[in-house]
Amino acid sequence: MTQFAIRLLVPDFPSADELLPWLRRIDASRWYSNFGPLVQEFESSVSGVFPENDAGALHLTTTASGTSALQLALSGLSLPRGSRVLVPSFTFPATALAILHAGLEPVFTEVDGKDWCLSPAIARAVAGRTDLDLVLPVATFGRPLPAGEWDAFARNTGIPVLADAAAALGYQAIATGMTAAFSLHATKPHGIGEGGLLVSRDPAIIDRARQLSNFGFRKGMAQRDGTNAKLSEYAAAVGLAQLARWPRIQELRRRLWTNYRERLAAIPSVRLQDGPEGWVPAVVGVMTSVAAAEVSDGLASSGIETRSWYCPPLTHQPAFAAFSRAGPDGTGDLPVTDALARRLVGLPFHTGLTDQQTGFICDCVRQLAGRETGQ
Ligand SMILES: *Cc1c(COP(=O)(O)O)cnc(C)c1O
Repeated sequence: MTQFAIRLLVPDFPSADELLPWLRRIDASRWYSNFGPLVQEFESSVSGVFPENDAGALHLTTTASGTSALQLALSGLSLPRGSRVLVPSFTFPATALAILHAGLEPVFTEVDGKDWCLSPAIARAVAGRTDLDLVLPVATFGRPLPAGEWDAFARNTGIPVLADAAAALGYQAIATGMTAAFSLHATKPHGIGEGGLLVSRDPAIIDRARQLSNFGFRKGMAQRDGTNAKLSEYAAAVGLAQLARWPRIQELRRRLWTNYRERLAAIPSVRLQDGPEGWVPAVVGVMTSVAAAEVSDGLASSGIETRSWYCPPLTHQPAFAAFSRAGPDGTGDLPVTDALARRLVGLPFHTGLTDQQTGFICDCVRQLAGRETGQ
């Protein structure tokens, strides 16, 4: 394997010394899973990450992963087998795998050309032409979804909305008509190793997901087709140690991104993802005016590691090839997704980078990314 001088992603995790006080708590309680004291403490502390939770308006449960948070939410809806779920083709495979595991059928659609997310406008256009039972938009690269607009979509169409906000913890707001799943995987900005969260304003949704994550148990019996998707006390220990470090991590990322973004925006041949003021992406993708491979090969020879996140799009991956595509224009064409597939380059972004390194990355991108504007 090539050793890159500048790595794509380096997780920022608590040291063994920072973990020790929490591990000693486990030694003392001898409680290792099944919603033990550390999981409960982590759940109540992590709810403070959501600014709108002031008045305890939100309910959440921890899960074994972001994927299982999606799966539990989907199972909890009790949709008939084969129900149709609108989902972007431009996402991480877990989004659509969760749909398959719940016995539902993905309908792959387009993303918006500016923010690279499945928008309410796209969902409305598709819903006008074909039956949909659920919409599953994705917070692409951690870009928060417009919660109010999705809430209005759910109310006006009667179609429920489940958000895959895997990488958007700290930025994604939770509206009434929208349940959201988050990932705590090691590669996410708020990683704990493996873990996830399901968050909703509806306590019944969270209660059901929690029951399903523990074999569907209630009153000592399996009441439903549950599974085991609980977070262990050891994972919660990492989460609690990590929570204390999150403000510093967030501040480091914000500072780094401010300069990085300005330099990238000054390169005429690259296009950045649109996002709200103050947002810091989980991963940095840029669209270049030449093929992504040309840029990534050039960057690799300068020692810079890249990855074309979410590529190839899901409709090009074997597990999903049999399912239909529905673009907003009524055809199966997904031109924005296709353009992203050809020209998206994921650049290094993590707390171990320096401004000097992001400056070097931007100089290299400027030389490689072509001369035209990145349209
Ligand atoms: C990371 C990610 C997931 C999967 O989360 P896990 O915790 O790894 O299961 C799902 N969807 C998106 C968009 C992701 O980025």
